[in-house]
Amino acid sequence: MDYLPIFCQLKNRACLLVGGGEVAERKARLLLQAGANLTVSAKTFTEPFKHWQQSMQVTLVEGEFNETLLDEQWLVIAATNDHQLNQQINQACEKRQLFCNVVDSPACASFIMPSIIDRSPLIVAVSSGGRAPVLSRLLREKLEAILPQHLGKLATYAGYLRARVKQFYHSMTERRRFWEKLFVHDRLAQALANNDAEQVDKLTQDLFAEPTDKRGEVVLVGAGPGDPSLLTLKGLQQIQQADIVVYDRLVSSEIMALVRRDAELIFVGKQPGYHCVPQAQINQILLEQAQKGKRVVRLKGGDPFIFGRGGEELETLHHANIPFSVVPGITSASGCSAYSGIPLSHRDYANSIRLITGHLKNGNELNWQSIASEQQTLVFYMGLSQAENIQKQLMAHGMDKNMPVAIIQQGTSTKQKVFTGTLQELTELAKLAHSPSLMIIGEVVQLRDKLNWFTGI
Ligand code: SAH
Repeated sequence: MDYLPIFCQLKNRACLLVGGGEVAERKARLLLQAGANLTVSAKTFTEPFKHWQQSMQVTLVEGEFNETLLDEQWLVIAATNDHQLNQQINQACEKRQLFCNVVDSPACASFIMPSIIDRSPLIVAVSSGGRAPVLSRLLREKLEAILPQHLGKLATYAGYLRARVKQFYHSMTERRRFWEKLFVHDRLAQALANNDAEQVDKLTQDLFAEPTDKRGEVVLVGAGPGDPSLLTLKGLQQIQQADIVVYDRLVSSEIMALVRRDAELIFVGKQPGYHCVPQAQINQILLEQAQKGKRVVRLKGGDPFIFGRGGEELETLHHANIPFSVVPGITSASGCSAYSGIPLSHRDYANSIRLITGHLKNGNELNWQSIASEQQTLVFYMGLSQAENIQKQLMAHGMDKNMPVAIIQQGTSTKQKVFTGTLQELTELAKLAHSPSLMIIGEVVQLRDKLNWFTGI
């Protein structure tokens, strides 16, 4: 992080603006909106400055800039059209450890001004640290469009209700749930926008009267295969509302960065071959946290119901009568197929697709005869360590040794690697790859020659 975003309380605090032209005018407007006690130093001033002086909003000091003006200031903005003077002001501020913004060379100054979306008291500030101002502006326009005007009123109203909510609900969880309901309450937002006090009161009473469910809940969320933008919108909502997120190795750090800041994170990372935290213990963690009334998100790579043992985790909850729900994710078969340019089905090559685990529960065996049959695409999850056996069995059951195969490692991520070859080379290919990797076996693999589009970043 190049800059720390902070919101400054400038009400009645002395601030100095040096410059009396149009650029300075824009800065002055912002400082005045924030209630600063503003002094402006310049040789000449545009009209608005004179009006502000008449209405006693600013103090104008006409003439050369003088360092004594810096005395007692909280914040300084150098906005003259004289580059050297701006630098001189900046250096003087630096010596006095005074925050200074310089309009023509923000990079050397001690603070920069972000793009602002103002729904006071809600304020969104966007900055690219001076590197891509056009990007910040575009983002600001987008945010302007999606943040309704009434948000300010809603935030003000929330401020007014705060003490009452604190008194009414004893636990943090209950309070947060109340707020979450309030902020997505369309009719309440409408009533506030219309200044319909009676309706606002009624809807608020109804909200307080709704019984709070003291039981926690568990939401099983699929995080997708790697690329963080493949997380679903619903998945994102869930991780931003969670009290606790229980996650494992396959969930990317970019997705973990989207989790609500205050949520407790519990890593139950499963490594291939052994489990850091045994499944029974994971089931127990989910159960205990939900019984404490927490909103638990169990976040898993890919889709939770595809080789994710999601079903087993939910069964425990079902027995304990804990409410749960499931948010699907893009399974690695879909993700790897798309990002490696290998369609899993194709009318010429495959009319069925089999998702197969290479990691079987002790004693179980696969039906190799049916797996090796024609016109299908085979996708092996957790198959790397079984490559030799898979190759041997498929060939023994009649699959052509020249059948195309692909191993996709860390599919959909910027580190994706794809190894292709034929069935007789599968064992050797698997030695090149490491976990997590997916194997695709079938005629469709040859389409990659034409359809490969993803080159990583
Ligand atoms: N629920 C997950 C699968 C979990 S089993 C899903 O729907 O994708 C773990 C196996 O998934 C790994 O051994 C590997 O075969 C596969 N896998 C998961 N993420 C992957 C990725 N980004 N690239 C390739 N394979 C992946």
